[in-house]
Amino acid sequence: MSWPEIPPHLDAQPEGLEGWPADAVVAWAIAAFGSHLALASSFGAEDMVLIDLAAPHRPRPNLFYLDTGLLFPETYDLIRQVERHYQWPATRVAPELTLVDQARNFGPSLWERDPDTCCRLRKVEPLQRHLRGKAAWMTGIRRAQTPARRKARVLEWDSRFGLWKVNPLVDWSWEAVLAYLQQHAVPHNPLHHSGYPSIGCLPCTTAVATGEDPRAGRWRGQVKTECGLHQ
Ligand code: SF4
Repeated sequence: MSWPEIPPHLDAQPEGLEGWPADAVVAWAIAAFGSHLALASSFGAEDMVLIDLAAPHRPRPNLFYLDTGLLFPETYDLIRQVERHYQWPATRVAPELTLVDQARNFGPSLWERDPDTCCRLRKVEPLQRHLRGKAAWMTGIRRAQTPARRKARVLEWDSRFGLWKVNPLVDWSWEAVLAYLQQHAVPHNPLHHSGYPSIGCLPCTTAVATGEDPRAGRWRGQVKTECGLHQ
């Protein structure tokens, strides 16, 4: 499928979207990109807000998740729960290598020795394949999460993957995310109540202590702070 680099009706919009409420951004993105919009979800708290905001719209974006094969059992349970709750099937995007193949080719527990390669094989490359041919993807990243996300904009051209990127929650705080989940009775991962504000793969995520950075439990003890999807 080919898609014009800048949809004609988008020309005047990018700056105008800054400061828009998240529900208006979601509605705009769905109207602008239609079925060529993908909603990336790790089923973390932010992504649950996005799913809840997008669910009433038609056409719905393509809801997908990167199944590294190493997600928490609670996350897999939540995915099934979300599919039932919203009557919205989530596309499972898997790596080319099974965990057995990865261990055979790269050695066991690659995430302990070379998490960048592990993330590339199990997240970045599958994402790249899945986004091919799409016009835009929507994510739940927030500026406050990591240094790499500080300059994120509501709408930006993602030169890495070659499509538009829509980030409706960029200026939200963690507290605002939690408040939304509570006020709208949105399904969410029970691990959020056990010290896991940010939930990735099981081998690379630990609980955080009170007062710690919410993402301190991701790749704890390593310099790595991003899986490579949002750079
Ligand atoms: S988060 Fe950890 S286990 Fe998951 S893909 Fe990255 S390095 Fe591998």
